[in-house]
Amino acid sequence: MSDTNTSAHTQARRPAISFEFFPPKTEEMEQNLWGVINRLAPLSPDFVSVTYGAGGSTRERTHSTIKRILEETSLTPAAHLTCDDATRADIDDVVDRYHEVGVRHIVALRGDPSGGIGTTYRAHPNGYQNSADLVASIKRRHPDMEVTVSAYPEKHPESTTLDADIDVLKAKVDAGADRAITQFFFDNDLYFRYLDRVRAAGITIPVVPGILPVQNFKLAKNFATRAGATVPDWLACKFEGLGEDAETRKLVAATVAAGQVQKLAKHGVENFHFYTMNRADLVFAISHILGI
Ligand code: FAD
Repeated sequence: MSDTNTSAHTQARRPAISFEFFPPKTEEMEQNLWGVINRLAPLSPDFVSVTYGAGGSTRERTHSTIKRILEETSLTPAAHLTCDDATRADIDDVVDRYHEVGVRHIVALRGDPSGGIGTTYRAHPNGYQNSADLVASIKRRHPDMEVTVSAYPEKHPESTTLDADIDVLKAKVDAGADRAITQFFFDNDLYFRYLDRVRAAGITIPVVPGILPVQNFKLAKNFATRAGATVPDWLACKFEGLGEDAETRKLVAATVAAGQVQKLAKHGVENFHFYTMNRADLVFAISHILGI
């Protein structure tokens, strides 16, 4: 491994963290999310991001969650935005609305094919053709907006090769992306090998590891299959036979995720993005172990 996700680093420095949430669908889920946000806020994350789903109502919920974070907390929100299934004008409108209310960070994505994962992606005829186009447009309209993009240490499932995938990341960086967050992975070597190839391709932006604390092994395995991420046998073994034992599962989950981030930190990684799944306990514990 040749470098870290940032430039110069010192072991003693407090790692920078960010948290990802999904917009709540019901009143009860909303209450839960706000409990989670309030619990995690004292950890002073660099930013908290809110995902953006397919369909108008989900998108509206992203906007209202972001707005509430801005209005009721001192956290810095980052709004996810995809360019699938929408015209350029609609997307520009969303970006402008975010800018108007004070959002200065967008996580810019292409999004999944409207037919579902595994089908062919078709850009809207009047839409942005790919994520690099979206990044370029956001930067052109609002140069003061920070733009984060995705990265795939095990390549995106639609990519023919990892090199082709890195070419797509390079196009997003050339369009103005400031940072990449990776798809989750469980084997740190995959991340470090990927980072070496990304750096060899001349990409210098931070490539922040996305960490998924495994609360529910079955669910995580399902996500991983859809995302093209490998679930190592050792991880399956650790959760074997714990289907009905939530208490032990939680302990195992905390140990596994803490081990992963500690090893990354030991090798100089200074930024971590947590896929919280709108739950606070594990992420809080892991951040604490990181010295936060
Ligand atoms: P890109 O990085 O633009 O492309 C992914 C792959 O598509 C490429 O590697 C390549 O195989 C192919 N491809 C793209 N453009 C070209 C091209 N010009 N030529 C050839 N091949 C090409 N999804 C949501 O719906 N909402 C979210 O909020 C959300 N947040 C995410 C956050 C992170 C950190 C990550 C890692 C993913 C997120 N996703 C989200 C999932 C993402 O939308 C899907 O993985 C989607 O299929 C790809 O979008 P992307 O921006 O990652 O694609």
